[in-house]
Amino acid sequence: MKICKNIRSLKIELNKIQKNKCLSLIPTMGYLHLGHLSLIKKAKKRKEFTVVSIFINPKQFGPKEDLDKYPVDIKNDIEKLKKLKVELLFIPSRKEMFDYKTSAYKYKPLKIQNILCGRYRPNYFPGVADIIIRLFSIINPDKSYFGEKDYQQYIFIKKLLKKLGFKSKVISSKTIRENSGLAMSSRNQYLSIEEMKIANKLYKFLKLTKKDINDKKNISKSLIKYKNELLNAGFTKIDYLEVRTDDLRKANINSTNKRLFAAVFINKTRLIDNIKV
Ligand code: AMP
Repeated sequence: MKICKNIRSLKIELNKIQKNKCLSLIPTMGYLHLGHLSLIKKAKKRKEFTVVSIFINPKQFGPKEDLDKYPVDIKNDIEKLKKLKVELLFIPSRKEMFDYKTSAYKYKPLKIQNILCGRYRPNYFPGVADIIIRLFSIINPDKSYFGEKDYQQYIFIKKLLKKLGFKSKVISSKTIRENSGLAMSSRNQYLSIEEMKIANKLYKFLKLTKKDINDKKNISKSLIKYKNELLNAGFTKIDYLEVRTDDLRKANINSTNKRLFAAVFINKTRLIDNIKV
């Protein structure tokens, strides 16, 4: 596996790739777990030239969020990526990334930035757009892979890249979970043993909410009931528990392809998850 720490060396490596080979990018913030690795395995299985990036993007964190304590373990990440036979790892510095000129791409906020996580984390999608534009204008992959765990982010990036005219096909991949059902996340390691017991209940509550919606056919009543259940179970705050269509439009009981989205806190740790309804 080649490891490139700057854009110049990355471009030299990218220029060596055979012209007919599919170039795939899997952007990450590192501290890799089986969720990240599932995206990489998908690209590798399809025999694509697989580039993984690790970059903790400060612009997508709010001023009171966890940027300073976001977990890092590059050595371990490199071991995991080598085992999967990833062709190229890109680990740029902040200066390297933010000095790169992307003025050719004019980003205008998308409507879906105002809902779900965008409503509660106003810096998040502008920050994601900024780094995605940088990464994609540097690498210009044929395909890119994103996890359904961050479903709104996946839809956002897909729409953003299309609007800006990037060629990349944007592929989603299902959420990888712990045995308890808890969606894997680098942030889960913030949880104490007691907090983890609460976090482990989230997926079960999502499935109960889904069942209640399908039985009672009254979305808003089910959501009110399960917001209370979540709070009673020890979740300390709920940003949202909401049903939307799979393209993130407002949903009613007759909408097809519905998803249930949740963002909840256990003390300082914010967890997100979503399931099909
Ligand atoms: P992150 O490092 O959190 O920015 O995530 C990098 C990519 O991995 C994103 O596309 C995430 O959606 C994806 N990802 C994170 N956790 C999971 C998971 N549990 N299952 C599947 N994909 C995931």
